[in-house]
Amino acid sequence: MPFTDIIGHSVPITWLRHAIQSQHLAHAYLFVGDEAIGKRMTAMQFIQAMNCENTMLNSRPDACGQCRTCQQITTSIHPDILFIQPDEGQTQHPQIKIERVREIEHHVIYKPLIGLRKICLIDQADRLTIGAANALLKTLEEPPDHCLFILISSRPIALLPTLKSRCLLVRFSSPSQEDVTQHLLDRDKLTESDARFISFVTNGRIGEALTLDLKTVKAKQKEFFTLLFEPSDHSLTNRFAAAEALSKSGQIPEGILWLWAGLRDLLLVATQAPPTLILNQERLAKLQELADCLTLHQILNLLDELYQLELGQQRNLNMQVGFEQFFIHLRETIPVPSR
Ligand SMILES: [Zn+2]
Repeated sequence: MPFTDIIGHSVPITWLRHAIQSQHLAHAYLFVGDEAIGKRMTAMQFIQAMNCENTMLNSRPDACGQCRTCQQITTSIHPDILFIQPDEGQTQHPQIKIERVREIEHHVIYKPLIGLRKICLIDQADRLTIGAANALLKTLEEPPDHCLFILISSRPIALLPTLKSRCLLVRFSSPSQEDVTQHLLDRDKLTESDARFISFVTNGRIGEALTLDLKTVKAKQKEFFTLLFEPSDHSLTNRFAAAEALSKSGQIPEGILWLWAGLRDLLLVATQAPPTLILNQERLAKLQELADCLTLHQILNLLDELYQLELGQQRNLNMQVGFEQFFIHLRETIPVPSR
């Protein structure tokens, strides 16, 4: 797979390609950025481009993805490349233990067998135990000339500062929702609204976007739309029960996001935005009906209240009370259908 197949990240990719082309490669790189946005994929591509039998160094270095070396890298059997990731085991918090670092030490001590360098990719490097991180630091302080390390982390704050200082930092930012939407449209047989929906829900986390179960997430979307605009029972008791359930669900940020998605659509319909931007495509009629009897001010007030709830959560607000206030306000704002 060539670099051009990676969504976004044009800045780090240009930079890495330039490093290969000019043969100015560092001994250690640290790739940082949010989870599931393509850091590992770029690292794999970087490794392939460095080793590919068909790489043309005088043009733009890239991997063919087809040669024997590229295949060996894809299937993790290339003898010069070691892939390390946390030991899933039985624990809730998988770690990279010192034994794995010993494996790294053993790997890098010998000269490469096929390629020009011994490469070690450490995914979720922030999961190194303190002992393991200190042992790795020793290797990084005096790395053999023929080796190259790539550490990947979405929580660089949890990395040993001395370890970080030994690496060249490469920052990754999330691809735009537009880029993710376009990629999904090119790759899968999705409708534009579904592709847009997936990129909104995953917020540029391409790894998640590609594996998301559309059916499950759509059910969740419908559930929250109903909760917002079409509850079976408009009584205060019912609304309080919803507030309690949400605050105790253990998925408060997700709940706020879904409530946000419904109100966002209402605002878009009320401001006559292009229909393709609406996430609740199946519920356009209901959104239009609501938009016809609410003012923009009322919708913005509800959105603002959700925003305050989100901030409140970060400040340890009593979320049950917060959701109760939101639902009371919602009940006062949204007209109850006459029977
Ligand atoms: Zn190749």
